[in-house]
Amino acid sequence: MDQDQKILVVGSANTDMVIGVDKFPLPGQTLLGNNFLLNAGGKGANQAVAAARLGGHVAIIARLGNDLFGNQTIENFKKEGLNVDGVVLDNKLPSGVAQIVVDKSGENTIVVAGGANLALNTKQINKNADLINASEVVLLQLEIPLGSVLYVAKKATSLGKKVILNPAPARKLSNELYANIYAITPNETETRYLTGIKITGEESAQHAADFFHNKGVRVVIITLGAAGAFLSTPDFSGTLATTEVEAVDSTAAGDTFNGALASALSKGMGWVDAVSFANKAAALSVTKHGAQASIPFLKDIQG
Ligand code: ADP
Repeated sequence: MDQDQKILVVGSANTDMVIGVDKFPLPGQTLLGNNFLLNAGGKGANQAVAAARLGGHVAIIARLGNDLFGNQTIENFKKEGLNVDGVVLDNKLPSGVAQIVVDKSGENTIVVAGGANLALNTKQINKNADLINASEVVLLQLEIPLGSVLYVAKKATSLGKKVILNPAPARKLSNELYANIYAITPNETETRYLTGIKITGEESAQHAADFFHNKGVRVVIITLGAAGAFLSTPDFSGTLATTEVEAVDSTAAGDTFNGALASALSKGMGWVDAVSFANKAAALSVTKHGAQASIPFLKDIQG
């Protein structure tokens, strides 16, 4: 157990199987693809790895299959320095996988089978209550059952922990969940899905932020791709620019942003500084291909 643990991620872990093709297969067609890549993924895992690479002390509660991918994922978590006390290998369900097909233009189709992620239940969370107790920041996404997300959020909030929800992939959320999160970090698409507001500038961003504030969320961070992030807190409101970079692949930009944010907050940074740090880290991630492969280390940012 990491005595210094300050961040807990409760979320998904997947193995991504990526095949490059010249063009997408038609229904019923078998196609010879080009290159094949096996990548560690899942929003929970990506964000935990990002938080750890960026200097955080991180534990993860996740559920994997007791299979090849599950065992490989645990080894990867350990290599990244994560506390894996809360990781369960499910004996009945397979590990979560994503089958990704990418064509020459970079367009992709993705099919995800959630597998064991969908069985991350309240019993597993209760068994790991000490990990919630030990942490200061609890980071959640929406690739596990919503009931489990709510359960962690309520427990952590009642203990005075800062709960950050990255509402991805977008799903309808209950008022009870909103009332039990401290900060929310949607991108523009998720913001529109959740609030009905299209972001066209600062006025609409503030309007969307107010939707979340009215539901009890103290801090709203809307990520704006190359334009950085809009931050709204009781003391600050405005857009924080990100670094200008040559973007090659934005996979895991949001995950890097959230992990970096958690790491910065766990070190006592204020929201403006933490969002600026997260912008820097996420900008670096878009300069490299892949998901976890593109997540930077602290030295890359300080260097
Ligand atoms: P998501 O990846 O979840 O769709 P965004 O596209 O908003 O979310 O990106 C998340 C963060 O990644 C942004 O707030 C920004 O810091 C960084 N980012 C994304 N795209 C770029 C880019 N082209 N140039 C610089 N930073 C970027």
